[in-house]
Amino acid sequence: MELTYQPYELQLKHAFTIAKFSRTSTPVILVQISHESKTGYGEASMVPYMGESHQSAAEFLSKIDISQFSYPFDFGAIVNYLDSIATGNPAIKAALDIALHDLDGKLKNQPCWQLLGSNPALMPVTSFTIGIDTPEMVIKKVKEAEGFKVIKVKLGRDTDKELITTIRSVTDVPLYVDANQGWTDLQQSLDMTHWLHEQGVQLIEQPMLKTDPDSNAWLTERSPIPIIGDEAVQRFEDVEKARGVYTGINIKLMKSAGLYEAKRMIDKARELDLKIMIGCMTETSCAALAGLAIAPQADWVDLDGPFLVSNNPYVMPEFSDGKYILNHDPGLGLRFS
Ligand code: MG
Repeated sequence: MELTYQPYELQLKHAFTIAKFSRTSTPVILVQISHESKTGYGEASMVPYMGESHQSAAEFLSKIDISQFSYPFDFGAIVNYLDSIATGNPAIKAALDIALHDLDGKLKNQPCWQLLGSNPALMPVTSFTIGIDTPEMVIKKVKEAEGFKVIKVKLGRDTDKELITTIRSVTDVPLYVDANQGWTDLQQSLDMTHWLHEQGVQLIEQPMLKTDPDSNAWLTERSPIPIIGDEAVQRFEDVEKARGVYTGINIKLMKSAGLYEAKRMIDKARELDLKIMIGCMTETSCAALAGLAIAPQADWVDLDGPFLVSNNPYVMPEFSDGKYILNHDPGLGLRFS
């Protein structure tokens, strides 16, 4: 078994602004793990607000004992091993987990989606995210999003209604909105959910602070639209806490430390009657394909990462009529130009 990695800076096509942050690029780490002449590819996407960096990832990787990854892989034991090295660091843990899943599929000559129990025919449409921007830029971005069947809008400022009205002036596609914890007043938030419902909004992500389950639960109980926990739901142990607080959860590999735990979160959420969204960070095709391997098991998919970046080093996954199409290559199905 051999582990190599390269730091890489993913450039965003547009500066990305959400309720609390703005940025123009995202540091990622591209990981390769080789065994018996096969190579598995993984990726850590380290958006700044999650607290990881090229440096923290390199430090974490320097502590890895590669002999712990003996084949056949025991993914649960590997996750426990990685957690024993350091708490946190979910993105670089995800990169290792994704590379090992890709390698596992290649060694077994089967696609990851098949090994994870997904049916490609059930793939939901994916949303395309538009960050907070001027009305002119929002209209430009909506036009770039032609081909997507759903648009996701970042809210959480006092110009929220204006932003939605601007989008509605140019398209009538269904919308998801993400407040990124930006809402504070309960009654105003409830009024907003009703207004958004009238505007054809189908779900709202993380309206209020992740540390305030009571307010989120109050809103979920009254909102005409499903309320999805994102920042509040990171890893497996958070799924149980989402019950009674949110309608559903947004699972992202960069939070869950990879595919093994994301699949456990899906199964647990189903057991608890929670809806499931599969989301992403700004990512290359590599991490997006890993998310896509479990996306057919979700109710909603928000895997637009590769569409938001200008220097994706890999071939774009196949995409048609608003949906990704899974290929039958062994492993993730990552292709090189
Ligand atoms: Mg979100």
